[in-house]
Amino acid sequence: MDRSAVVGVDVGGTRIKSVLVDGDGEVLAAKVVPTPSRPGPKLGRVAAGLRRDLEDEAGVPAGALAVVVPGLVEEVVGIARWSANLRWSDLPLTQLLAEHLDVPVTSGHDVRAGLLAEHRLGAARGVDDVVFLPLGTGIAAAQMTGGQVVAGSPWSGEVGHVVVRPGGPVCGCGAAGCLEAVASAAALGRAWSTASGEERDAEHLAGAVAQGDPAAVQIWQQAVEDLALVLAPVISAAGTRLLLVGGGLVLSGDLLLDPLRSALAARLPGRTDLEVAPAALGDRAGALGAACLAADLVRSTR
Ligand SMILES: [Zn+2]
Repeated sequence: MDRSAVVGVDVGGTRIKSVLVDGDGEVLAAKVVPTPSRPGPKLGRVAAGLRRDLEDEAGVPAGALAVVVPGLVEEVVGIARWSANLRWSDLPLTQLLAEHLDVPVTSGHDVRAGLLAEHRLGAARGVDDVVFLPLGTGIAAAQMTGGQVVAGSPWSGEVGHVVVRPGGPVCGCGAAGCLEAVASAAALGRAWSTASGEERDAEHLAGAVAQGDPAAVQIWQQAVEDLALVLAPVISAAGTRLLLVGGGLVLSGDLLLDPLRSALAARLPGRTDLEVAPAALGDRAGALGAACLAADLVRSTR
């Protein structure tokens, strides 16, 4: 049996995205389902169901499956340590998968897996020193050095919880003024709602910035400065050549990336080699990254 096709599953706060890809990373089938409430213990069964549906649609069997999740993940032991959104702690994810599936399984972190996918299939092809920063509801980063995704302790990449405005807006983690609380898409939507007196989201803010609204520009520019404040030392320490920005906010393109390039250039004199670019795989990066982890598992067990 050809076992080169694999399944990747990305568990998000509201949706679970899954793909079945062939040995070249081509997507043969894809399926999205809503995330159940308190999904942790259900993930083995959910993943098994998605695998069946994807295999039926693609007409080929999967040789392995991987699930990636947000929050604090310890890949080496296959345990999802903590997720505020998904309400679990110390979830034995790989073990849960193994109980419901008869193919090799593994688990990982959504952003680190997304970086792996961008490196193999997306905007980071050919670059081995990369920071990947999806800007969505939350902010977490992943780092690649010398072609290897850095996955140390579960806290690796948690740049969203660096305090940039002491005493500022309260973060989901309980601290005040975290980067995530001032520069995520959700935070920008809240800031713009307060400033404009109406319920607004980050996309609406971007529209107002494009039209030169002074209050909108000020919120936007401050967020960009906060991002640069946190990212510059990360880029400097890791020798990063490419900063890949993903998530919903990057749809505003150079409206976001141009000021971010300027803010980073001001903080990193001499780094003319640093490229700041949009990610290529969109909201499928996590599922494709999970598929990369599954493909590596097949290779390692051959
Ligand atoms: Zn925080």
